[in-house]
Amino acid sequence: MTPYEELSARFREAARIKSIQAVLGWDQETFLPDKAAAWRGEQLSWLAGAHHRLVTAPETAAGIDACEAAGFAADTVESTNVRGWRRDYDLAAKLPSAFVEELSRTTSEATHVWAEARRRSDFAHYRPMLEKLVSLTRQKADLLGWEACRYDALLDEYEPGARTTDISALFAELAPQIAALVGPATEISARTPADLLAGHYPIAAQQAFNREVAEAFGFDFFAGRIDTTTHPFCTSLGPEDTRLTTRYDEGDFLSSLYGVLHEAGHGLYEQGLNKSEWSLPAGDACSLGIHESQSRLWENHIGGSEAFWNHWLPRAAVHFPGLAAFTPQQVAAAARRVSPSFIRVDADEVTYDLHIILRFEIENLLINGGLEVKDLPEAWNARFRELTGLTVPDDARGCLQDIHWSFAGFGYFCTYTLGNLNASQLMRAARRDDPGLDSSLASGQYAPLLNWLRSRVHAHGRRWSAPELMRNATGEPTRADYHLEYLRAKFLA
Ligand code: ZN
Repeated sequence: MTPYEELSARFREAARIKSIQAVLGWDQETFLPDKAAAWRGEQLSWLAGAHHRLVTAPETAAGIDACEAAGFAADTVESTNVRGWRRDYDLAAKLPSAFVEELSRTTSEATHVWAEARRRSDFAHYRPMLEKLVSLTRQKADLLGWEACRYDALLDEYEPGARTTDISALFAELAPQIAALVGPATEISARTPADLLAGHYPIAAQQAFNREVAEAFGFDFFAGRIDTTTHPFCTSLGPEDTRLTTRYDEGDFLSSLYGVLHEAGHGLYEQGLNKSEWSLPAGDACSLGIHESQSRLWENHIGGSEAFWNHWLPRAAVHFPGLAAFTPQQVAAAARRVSPSFIRVDADEVTYDLHIILRFEIENLLINGGLEVKDLPEAWNARFRELTGLTVPDDARGCLQDIHWSFAGFGYFCTYTLGNLNASQLMRAARRDDPGLDSSLASGQYAPLLNWLRSRVHAHGRRWSAPELMRNATGEPTRADYHLEYLRAKFLA
């Protein structure tokens, strides 16, 4: 075997371990009985250890050195894999096992403390834990290494190649312009009553309609399925096995529908990756910001459009006969209602990015310096008021609402907004490349859009960094103004 074949065999073994972890993780969220949780935890941590040992073994390092010395032509599957393996190895090897264990112990304890603090809306109860998490996260950034600012090291884990200064510049442009949109968009939305579509929507009918739409978008149900969980997600258990989940509310069919369209967008990306290189860098997703662009594109740009409801309302009315009383314009207006609120996960499409910008700014201050944990609630509430005009009533609806910091997920939030910006920019480029795209979409033909995404985004895996991928697909790095144009056209019309 050549050094490349040997190294590839090692990472294919690591991919098999990861996919077994994914099966167990998926089962844990969907079907696992309560009493089975402890044993499942043991299985998962054993697999995590086995994966880490394999990836950080001296033979792995020697194999990467040998492949780098051999060299591969630029832009080939081999060069993408070797570059990706180098990155994965360095990230895993820079964190000593003792540190990883301490972080893991702290985060599992923190998750419980956070849940209790949120339940009681008691920031003081969470504060010592968050102080410890911030301190460990700073140490982690220093172990990983950084040049311009400490937060770059954290960002790089989720969004390789992204820099804090670039994202700060994008967000500084976005924040005031989105904030200015909220008032007028809320006023326009108020013309559509919040309970316009109130009714009874049986779960079986929701499942049938959701599946029909996801299938029309191109999701392959012979290589995937939809199950029910409290928190919707998408995960791939193998090259031909992509699982989506959603939750149902019998009074509101839109929540499960848009949940499925969002996760199906992630799933279409997963199903479009290079199957023979699955879970190796050449067959893996580029970044979280690119992943999220796929979910937001199908959920909001396609599913949230009037063209969508023009085409789909007659089919929806077959499943839910009460909908026959409405026009497509009314259903589309109900689906895009804007109404500022405190909780990020319930936020409408216009205010959502303000929730993210707030978290990005606060994380930056906590990690780089400038904000002490003890001053967090005050800083959060003041900035939230500036951005949305709303006064946070208690910390449960303020700085205690998200779980991310409890699992040390600093650097993660901004990928949601990058996803929105990328989605708007990719849609604009797809329309530019295919002037007939909108008439295809209007007649429920989604293959031209999916094929464009397959060739510009999905097929490349981690061949390029996210900024490079955006430049190659659209001609420009990620920008704020295309998303602002999209929001104005959709919400101020
Ligand atoms: Zn998502």
